[in-house]
Amino acid sequence: MQTLTVKDITTVIIDVPSIRPHRFAGLEINQQAYLIVKLETGEGAIGIGEGVSPGGPWWSGEAIETQQAMIEHHFLPALQELGAVSLPTVVQHLDAVAYDNHFAKAAVEMALFDALGRQLGLPVSTLLGGGPARDRIPVRWAVGAADIESIVQEVQERFDQGHTALKLKMGAVNPDEDVERVAAVIDALGPDVDYLVDPNASWPLETARWVIDKLETLGVSFVEQPIRRDDLEGLAHLTARATRISLIADESVCTPSDALRATRTRTCDGVAVKVAKAGGLLRGLAVGQIATATGLGCYGGTALESPIGTAASAHLFAALPQLDLGCELVGPLLLADEILVEPLEYERGDLVVPQGPGLGVEVDWDKVAEFQRPSSAS
Ligand code: MG
Repeated sequence: MQTLTVKDITTVIIDVPSIRPHRFAGLEINQQAYLIVKLETGEGAIGIGEGVSPGGPWWSGEAIETQQAMIEHHFLPALQELGAVSLPTVVQHLDAVAYDNHFAKAAVEMALFDALGRQLGLPVSTLLGGGPARDRIPVRWAVGAADIESIVQEVQERFDQGHTALKLKMGAVNPDEDVERVAAVIDALGPDVDYLVDPNASWPLETARWVIDKLETLGVSFVEQPIRRDDLEGLAHLTARATRISLIADESVCTPSDALRATRTRTCDGVAVKVAKAGGLLRGLAVGQIATATGLGCYGGTALESPIGTAASAHLFAALPQLDLGCELVGPLLLADEILVEPLEYERGDLVVPQGPGLGVEVDWDKVAEFQRPSSAS
């Protein structure tokens, strides 16, 4: 059994500006906050993890500041007291310390995976699955709820660089106007693009019914999380109703037990797998395995991670048995600056899975210092 001991964890919050505003159903962001987690093991390895929240606590209830407090005041002392720990049991130990807090738990587990990978000289994708099932992953380009002209211009530029699929945020305007926006984008970009829309759980069930019908006639392929996260019956109803459109559960399916529930009730056609919402890489792997084992599609989702969290997601998605819906790991491409010594490699619309030990990335600590939020270091 390979065990580790946690000697120390230090954290720092950074705020990195975006290349453009990104508008969700409920808010717009111009920068992204990250919690950089530096973990030192008793065996002398250093591992890096990342806490994230896509524009604040609206998505998960966890803010970047609560993740920092939870890790420093609760997880670190518990892990120090625990002594030797193996990776499959880390998050279970953290469950005994705090309910929920999946994003904070994922940040700590990520740092431990990086440390162990560095110690063993193996990439995290190999630690997760015995070797990557894929070494590059197609990336769906994602745009916020912006005006049509700027969306079309941006998407055409990105498609010239090799992306072939598009994710559009919905829910920021009334549904009639929203459908017209999507129709205008599809009219401009043509029917051959693979379109996914995501209103982030903002539609009432009745609205979702007619909007999905309209989106179906427009040629949209996927709708992500149309209604509130706890309405699994409603989601199952929409999934049974839709014919050509596939429904992907995001907010409704975070953890392995959520995935099992979704499978039992046939809540959705596919599941968005994410490291942070699952509570770590191993639980994200379990979500993907359950989806595949029960015939659900598997989509590599993002919480708009920095290149650190994106690398971790890439290792997870590389290790999944099936990733039939591709991924949306655009986080680093939306940032106006770089926090790694060597940027992650995107090539012709694909993210190349890092090959080095651990997460396979080196943090540029000068850049971290540059973006550090005042008084955020511990
Ligand atoms: Mg989503």
